[in-house]
Amino acid sequence: MYQVGFDVGGTNLKVGVVHDNLEIVASRNVAFPKGETYEKVAALMAEQVVALAKDMNIPVTDFKSIGIATAGSIDASGSIIIHAHNLGFHDVPMIDEMHKHFPKIPVYLANDADAAALAELHAGAFRGKKTAVLFTLGTGVGGGIILGGKMFKGGMGHGNELGHMIVQHGGPICTCGNRGCIESLCTATWLIQQGRKVIVEYPISMIYEKAEGDMNKVTAKIVIDSAKEGDTIALDIFNTYVDSLSSAITSVVALLDPEVVALGGGVSLAGDFLFAPVREMVKQKSFFKVYHEVVPAQLGNTAGIIGAAMLARNEEGSV
Ligand code: BGC
Ligand code: ZN
Repeated sequence: MYQVGFDVGGTNLKVGVVHDNLEIVASRNVAFPKGETYEKVAALMAEQVVALAKDMNIPVTDFKSIGIATAGSIDASGSIIIHAHNLGFHDVPMIDEMHKHFPKIPVYLANDADAAALAELHAGAFRGKKTAVLFTLGTGVGGGIILGGKMFKGGMGHGNELGHMIVQHGGPICTCGNRGCIESLCTATWLIQQGRKVIVEYPISMIYEKAEGDMNKVTAKIVIDSAKEGDTIALDIFNTYVDSLSSAITSVVALLDPEVVALGGGVSLAGDFLFAPVREMVKQKSFFKVYHEVVPAQLGNTAGIIGAAMLARNEEGSV
């Protein structure tokens, strides 16, 4: 059987058709249309579903469910996106809107990082684990928690927002309006902002060179690559990033004592260059004298899609 899984983030809108064996058999990726109404976004999503069926040469009715993993918090009924600052969504009745396009297909909604953690539990870094935490480091910082071997949906059904735990009193302003949230310090967006400052302040730096002096060309990868190549300004930025991220992880470790913490999202692609110092700092900062593993998420960019596609089975309790 085929299930459709969407991963709706502030930068990309990704969708895939997922087979029962959790393999993605077809996929599409479009830019998230920032500033559009949710009706338009849902219509664009519906178009992708129709296009996928066409690509596969099957009727849309062969899709047994549509799962949507979205940035933002979901209401207790599981059908409304309450706040997704990076998408500009507030009180969006996403399930009803999708049903307008596909009245006969069951639609499920979950937070993107929660869904990614569900996917990691069944097919990735969390296999066989009872307590685990996932941080996704991208446009925002997402958090997914596995408790008792299950995706934790929050005590009142709103999931968790690990990215909005405040770790620096009076720190930078966050997308949510508070200051010093993990998200204000540990995103790819933060790295890009710091890189842009460098373009203005240090026209002889490696970041300037790699971005050809153009602020719009600065990416998190450019900042990280410059640090890897030993550029001192980039290294300063990177070390501050590692310090913030390790504080975030240590705080969550203090709260949950998880068997494993996984890092996913674009920034995690920095590999050992990131993981080695993060592990070291978490060890130094941790209250516990045992080491809590910090590992890369295994499903990479596909975790959200796979987790979203699994939502139907998760709700039925068949996974
Ligand atoms: C949102 C989270 C989301 C994360 C990653 C944050 O801004 O508040 O709900 O999981 O971004 O997309
Ligand atoms: Zn915040």
